[in-house]
Amino acid sequence: MSPVAPGDVLGILGGGQLGRMIAVEAARLGLVVHVYNDAPASPAFDVAARATTADFADGEALAEFARHCAVVTYEFENVPVSAAETVARWAPLRPGLAALATAQDRLAEKRFVAGLGIPVAPFRAVDDAASLAAALAALGRPAILKTRRFGYDGKGQVVIREGDDPAAALAAIGAAPAILEGFVPFAAEVSVVAARAPDGGLAVYDLCENRHEGGILARTTVPAAAAPETEAAAREIAARIATALDYVGVFAVEMFLVRDADGEHLVVNEMAPRVHNSGHWTDIGAATSQFEQHVRAVCGWPLGPTTRRAPVATMDNLIGADAGAWRTLLAEEGARLTLYGKGEARAGRKMGHVTRLSEKR
Ligand code: AMP
Repeated sequence: MSPVAPGDVLGILGGGQLGRMIAVEAARLGLVVHVYNDAPASPAFDVAARATTADFADGEALAEFARHCAVVTYEFENVPVSAAETVARWAPLRPGLAALATAQDRLAEKRFVAGLGIPVAPFRAVDDAASLAAALAALGRPAILKTRRFGYDGKGQVVIREGDDPAAALAAIGAAPAILEGFVPFAAEVSVVAARAPDGGLAVYDLCENRHEGGILARTTVPAAAAPETEAAAREIAARIATALDYVGVFAVEMFLVRDADGEHLVVNEMAPRVHNSGHWTDIGAATSQFEQHVRAVCGWPLGPTTRRAPVATMDNLIGADAGAWRTLLAEEGARLTLYGKGEARAGRKMGHVTRLSEKR
């Protein structure tokens, strides 16, 4: 691939808030941003120089888009692989197809991560009532039934406890192809956000501790309350996954931190082949934000330092009506507010986030 330079076009597949924040940083570094999405009301369109509204099944529109891009990235992992393949015929696609295909199927992802010798929750493929019964017999209860595809923010999953009817659980996920996971008794949820460059260089941010409410990330605190060996193990896991995928760009690995008599252990939950909500703290909390870092990585530019800028950084998501507090947040010294430009503040919808730096947790 010919080197990407300021003035070139960076294409983004997907038009949500992650694309919007990548686009802002790309424009700041002199790139021309072209966003491709299937919905006309897309937060990223508002900040991009060029926009295409077309279906992800529209091969001609995808080819036309990609032909004018120096490099194309994606901001959500449910971009159909067929669309990504079309794009990859016309422009370098970063991250590549392997990461996309692996991350959008929970079963493929679990097998891939387990195949690297990295601990994951015990799991079984579930396609019908019989395979669910067998999986429950093997893994016990509680267990979590998750659709293989299109799950996010706790959607497409249901916990099966003692006394629960497996048939009802299967119906609740629309009888879609699924996996059953054993319940991990975690002490905390953590994530590693990192970037990998085309030459294999890695830049890893400090371990993030994530608190979810109702299946949606509520708060990230950095650094995580974890032993230094745990943080080192998390970095090692991230490096192994990224290297195995020959990954280029920013990614996140979400993990469960388990504490038992032997100490702390990490169990990988999932990998996101994109900038990640738990990395939003880097907008003021790190020397290089994850959005700038992603642009640097996919363009083949030098990665920036990931140094934390304060003893503690936090990020709070503004969900639904939370964003109504924008005026108060703007008045708060040291708080940095980001709003995603979404119209309606529906319950459970991510509307923005606020980041803060502090001296202690
Ligand atoms: P996911 O969609 O896989 O990120 O899951 C959403 C949330 O459900 C996670 O952040 C956890 O809080 C919880 N969860 C998912 N899988 C498990 C598991 N195997 N054991 C315990 N909790 C889980």
